[in-house]
Amino acid sequence: MTLHIHKYGGTSVGSLDRIRAVAGNVAKRRDAGDDVVVVVSAMAGETNRLESLGQELSDQPKAREMDVLLSAGEQVSAALTAMALDQLGYRARSYLGWQVPIVTDTNHMKARFECIETKRLKEDLAASVIPVVAGFQGIDAGGDITTVGRGGSDTSAVAIAAALNADECRIYTDVDGVYTADPRIVDGARKMEVVSFEEMLELASLGSKVLHPRAVEYAANSGVTLRVLSSFNEGEGTLITFEDANMEQPVVSGIAHAIDEAKLTVVGVPDVPGVASTILGPIADASIEVDMIVQNIGSDGTTDFTFTVKRRDYDTAKGILSGLLKDLGARDVLGDNAIVKVSVVGVGMRSHAGVATRMFNALAEENINIQMISTSEIKISVVIAERYLELAVRSIHKVFELENGDIAE
Ligand code: ASP
Ligand code: MG
Repeated sequence: MTLHIHKYGGTSVGSLDRIRAVAGNVAKRRDAGDDVVVVVSAMAGETNRLESLGQELSDQPKAREMDVLLSAGEQVSAALTAMALDQLGYRARSYLGWQVPIVTDTNHMKARFECIETKRLKEDLAASVIPVVAGFQGIDAGGDITTVGRGGSDTSAVAIAAALNADECRIYTDVDGVYTADPRIVDGARKMEVVSFEEMLELASLGSKVLHPRAVEYAANSGVTLRVLSSFNEGEGTLITFEDANMEQPVVSGIAHAIDEAKLTVVGVPDVPGVASTILGPIADASIEVDMIVQNIGSDGTTDFTFTVKRRDYDTAKGILSGLLKDLGARDVLGDNAIVKVSVVGVGMRSHAGVATRMFNALAEENINIQMISTSEIKISVVIAERYLELAVRSIHKVFELENGDIAE
């Protein structure tokens, strides 16, 4: 028998009808001969609702209490899913993190998995009982409830798959796989049948919402085969697996975009040692994550220092920089919070020159100005004005012929 972990996200368990459909899908896979362990998210919107309750009540809710609060969402969906399976005549049993137990470290709201006890899950499987595990939550060594960070139930599923040495971790969601670009933007976006871990990790980190980057990383590190598929429609979805040396590699596999970006520039900073750390130190102290960094040296002994942050951190970051101006001896702080990042990803880039040129040509032809560029071995990202997002993604998709699958020769 093959063992599959099925993870169902918020929209997939968003209503009782949806939960019935989930139970139907699990039942079908079981009838086909798969052993299944189900992992569920909270019903769509529920974690946000709980989070705002906590924030409304308390200026600075304790992370320990937030974990007790937020983990309630998954408790509800796990119980309902087990009941729905029971209703269909299948034996099922729900588990909260502490009952498994799923042991994490003590970092509330961003805990890391430490160890997953498989005894009860295995006993259930042996007795033809379907375990339904609440995702996103665990318990620390002191017995306190923890959660593993927003969007963390994908990673819960992967961690359980790794612990049980499952044949596949199937992430059921509201799209039917990983696409060459967001199909809401590009009509001809194509569902990929297979994508390598390396590419998926880039796509997920660069804004493709379909999988949480941490889940992809965990799966790659622990050798768990992942598959993304729809809980609404039939289909094989997209398989995420290790790169096969004999596989034909497209130069570019897909395009990701991130709209929640903002850019800050400190203008006219004296070009002396220590500037970057003076600027970025206080930003890091405020727990603001910095993404791209560009420094241009002017001819007058000063430099312009530009970096990007998440849009929600824009105002705070700008305030911090304005406060530093005098100390830095810089001229000004400029900012723009209407920018987006568009990236192309493909392992074939390693062996093919000219990918950047093709991408930049496509943008130039549409008169789209590139504000920042960053590259790695298998990706190229550009920052452009938000209003050009759709045009940029469409023209890049076209230039690399992604609708046909542009296979490298
Ligand atoms: N319910 C949690 C969240 O919304 C975990 C998850 O859905 O992955 O962040
Ligand atoms: Mg979610």
